[in-house]
Amino acid sequence: MPFAVGLTGGIGSGKTMVAELFAELGAGVVDTDEIARALTGPGQAAVGEIARRFGPQYVTADGALDRARMRKLAFEDARAKKDLESILHPLIRREAERRVANSTAPYVILVVPLLFESGAYQKLVRRVLVVDSDQETRIERVRRRNNLPREEILAIMASQVGQAERLRRADDVIRNDGDLAALGAQVATLHRKYLDLAAEG
Ligand code: ATP
Repeated sequence: MPFAVGLTGGIGSGKTMVAELFAELGAGVVDTDEIARALTGPGQAAVGEIARRFGPQYVTADGALDRARMRKLAFEDARAKKDLESILHPLIRREAERRVANSTAPYVILVVPLLFESGAYQKLVRRVLVVDSDQETRIERVRRRNNLPREEILAIMASQVGQAERLRRADDVIRNDGDLAALGAQVATLHRKYLDLAAEG
C-alpha cells in the first residue's frame, strides 16, 4: 500500500486547489468527490440502488443521479440523507482504497472533505493534512463559485467539524488565505517531507 496522506478542510478551504498543486509535483491524487460523481454517472450501479430506494424521479434521462434533486431532498430530510449515505459511502470508500492501492506515484494525497466526520478513512492514511482558511474568505469563495446564499453556506459549515477541532487533529496544516504563490510554497515544502516519509516506508 503506498504512503497516503488524507487531505481535508471545510467547504471552500481550497482542498481541490491544493490537491492540484500536489499533483503537478508528481503526487498521486485520489479525490472522493470525484469518485462520488463517477459512481453516480450514467448507468452506474449506485444509480439503480438509489432509484429503488427513492424512486425513478431521482434519475435523469441519461441514467445518472439527478444531483440537484437529491441534494434538495437530503437537505430537507435527515432520514433520506442517511439512506443515501449508506448506499454511497461504502462504494466510495471501496473505490478510494482500490485507487490508492493501484497508484504508482511515490505517495498519494487522498482528498476526503469529511475525513474527521466519517472515520472510515483514518485507517487508509498515515497522516492528515488540513487546509485552513478564514471563515469569511471561504464563504466569499463558495458564494462566487456556487452562487449559494450565505445562509446555506453557513448551514453546510455548521454540519461540518469546526476549524478548531480540525486543526487539533491535523498532522500538517496549509494556510490558504493568501495568493497562489503562497499556497504553492507550502505545498512544495510538504511534498519534500512526504517524499522523505514515503521513502522511509
Ligand atoms: P469544497 O469543499 O466546496 O469542494 P474546496 O475545499 O475543494 O471546496 P476549492 O474548490 O479548491 O475548495 O476552492 C474553492 C474556490 O475558491 C474555488 O473556486 C477556488 O478556485 C477558489 N480558491 C481557493 N483558494 C484560492 C486562493 N488562494 N486564491 C484565490 N482563489 C482561491
